[in-house]
Amino acid sequence: MPTYEYQCTACKHSFSAIQTMSEHEKGKVACPKCKSKKVKQQISLFTAKTSRKS
Ligand SMILES: [Zn+2]
Repeated sequence: MPTYEYQCTACKHSFSAIQTMSEHEKGKVACPKCKSKKVKQQISLFTAKTSRKS
């Protein structure tokens, strides 16, 4: 199961979330600190590896 890295745009808290692909698609992620849904995804190692094929 992939780990997604997020940063909350409200409080700048960075966190990682382990989600299934379907959970990720639904965008069900909130900041664990302030509960804001305004989070942006960080580039993770997982993403970097798969997107390197140019
Ligand atoms: Zn937050």
